[in-house]
Amino acid sequence: MMVFEYENDIVIVDVGFQFPEEDMLGVDYVIPDISYLEGKEHKIRAILITHGHLDHIGAIPYLLPKLKFPPIYGSKLSMGLVKKRLDEFNLTKQAQMHVVDPDKTLRFGSFSVDWFRVNHSIPDSLGILLKSPAGNIVHTGDFKFDLTPVYQEPTDFAKIGSFANQNISALFSDSTNALKAGHTLSEKQVGENLEKVIAEAPGRIIIAAFSSLIGRLQFLINAASRHGRKVYVSGRSMSDNISIAQELSFIKTPPGIVNSIKQMPNRIKDADTLILTTGAQGEAVSALARMGLGDHPQIRIKPGDTIILSSSPIPGNEKAVFSVINNLVRLGARVIFNQVMDVHTSGHAQREDLKLMINLVKPRSLVPVHGEIYMRHAHAEIGRAMGLSQENAIVIENGDVLEIHNGQARATKEKVSANYIMIDGKGIGDVGAQIIMDRQIMSQNGVLTILLTVDGKTKKLVKDPEIITRGFIYMDESQELVKETISRARKGYEAALERFKGWKRGDVKAYVRTALDRFTHRKIGRNPLILPVIIEV
Ligand SMILES: [Zn+2]
Repeated sequence: MMVFEYENDIVIVDVGFQFPEEDMLGVDYVIPDISYLEGKEHKIRAILITHGHLDHIGAIPYLLPKLKFPPIYGSKLSMGLVKKRLDEFNLTKQAQMHVVDPDKTLRFGSFSVDWFRVNHSIPDSLGILLKSPAGNIVHTGDFKFDLTPVYQEPTDFAKIGSFANQNISALFSDSTNALKAGHTLSEKQVGENLEKVIAEAPGRIIIAAFSSLIGRLQFLINAASRHGRKVYVSGRSMSDNISIAQELSFIKTPPGIVNSIKQMPNRIKDADTLILTTGAQGEAVSALARMGLGDHPQIRIKPGDTIILSSSPIPGNEKAVFSVINNLVRLGARVIFNQVMDVHTSGHAQREDLKLMINLVKPRSLVPVHGEIYMRHAHAEIGRAMGLSQENAIVIENGDVLEIHNGQARATKEKVSANYIMIDGKGIGDVGAQIIMDRQIMSQNGVLTILLTVDGKTKKLVKDPEIITRGFIYMDESQELVKETISRARKGYEAALERFKGWKRGDVKAYVRTALDRFTHRKIGRNPLILPVIIEV
C-alpha cells in the first residue's frame, strides 16, 4: 500500500496483504499499518488498484471501513476480484467501486491519474501516471513486457513512451526480477511447451497452476478441447477464479468443457481427462498435496498420469513443492515442472525489461518498489548503470517518506508507523508480538496449565491444584513429575498469598508462573508456556 499526498488530497495505490513469514505462527495475513491515515480519512480521494493479486487488493475488506469507504478504481477484472473480497465481508453495499477506462484521465483534487496497460501474471493489469503540482510520477504496478502474450493485450508501449516528455520526477518500478538476466520468457513459448506435453500425454493430465493466471487457464482449457479432453477443476480458489473470469468474460469456454471435479464420471477414459488444480506452491491442504498423499476424495495417482506444475515455487516454498513432487513420482506419475521444461514464466520484468522501462519513461529518479530489499537495491544499481546519479536511485523501506519538491524526489528522515498488523481468522489487529511469542513457546515447549481452585473469601486453596499439559510431558508416564509440579504450584500459590496482602490476581498468577518456570527448567530443562488459572468458588 502506497500513499500519495499533496496538501489536502490523498490517493492510495493498492491495499494488499502479505502472507505470513515462517515465524508468524498461525497468522493468516499481515495487513498494512494505516495509523498515518487516522484523522486524515476526509482527505482520501481514491484508492487506485493496479491489479487483482491478493498482495495488492487482499487487505481492502479489512481496511476499507477504517478508511471510511473512499471510492476504489481499477480495471474490470481487478474490480471483479475486489467485489468478490468485499462480498465475503458483506461490505459491497457501502463500497464505491468504479471500473476505469484506461484511456480516460481521472481527477482527484490536485492529482490527475492516467492508466497504462501492462502485462503480468493476471490479466487486466494497469500502471499509473500520477500528476501533481509538485511533480509527476509513474507507478508500474507489477509488470512484465510480453510481446506475444496469451489472451491478453500487450503492454501499451506507445503510451509509456509518451511519458518521456512529460517530466517524470520518479519512476516507481517493480523490482521482483531485478536479479534475473535477460528478458522474461513470453507466455506464448510456455503455451507451445504445454501444448506439446498435452498432445503427447498417454493418460490423464493433471495441471497445477496459480488460479489467478487466467490467460494460461484459458489456454489450457482450449488446449484440452483441441485434444479431445474435458476439464475438471479441483480446489476452491481455482473454481472461484474461473467462475469470476467467466462472468467477466476473461475466460470463454465452449459449453460442457469445464466441470467441477465432483462431476467427473467414474468411468471416463484417462486420455479424455485434464484436471486443473490448486497446490502449485506445495500448500499442505491443497488438492495436489492431497493427491500426493493418496488422500484426495476423487483422484488416485497412478502410473500413466502426467502431472504438470505450471508454476515456480515462491522463495520459501521450495521444500514443500519438492516434497509434493517426491510423493507424486513415488506413486508412478510423470511430473513436469520448470526444471524439466519451461512450463511456467514469471509475471515480473527481468533486467533487460527493467532497463527498457527506464529508457521509455526517462525519469529524473528511480524508486524501486515490490520485492525484497536486496532486489530493490539490485534494481537501483541497474538505474545507476544507466546513468542515474547515486541520489536519484532511491531505495526506501516500509514507513519511509519520499518527498518530491519542484520535480526533485528525495528520501526524507521522516518515518510513519509501519508495523506488522497480523490477522488471524476474523480478528483484526488483535494478534500482537505477545501472542506470537506465546505461540512460539507453545510450539517448541508445549503448554502447562495449572488450575487453582480457591475460596472466594479467604482466597485459600480449597483443593490441590490440577494440571493439564499439551506437548509438554506425557502425564501418565510422569506421575512423579506431575505430583511434584502440583506441590510446587501449591507452595508457589501459598507463598504468593503471604506476599501480596491485597491478593491481586495478576500478581499472584505471575508469582506462580515464575515459581513453576524455574522448577520445570531446573528439573527437566524445558520451558513450557505456563498458564495459571484461578477459579474462585
Ligand atoms: Zn502481482
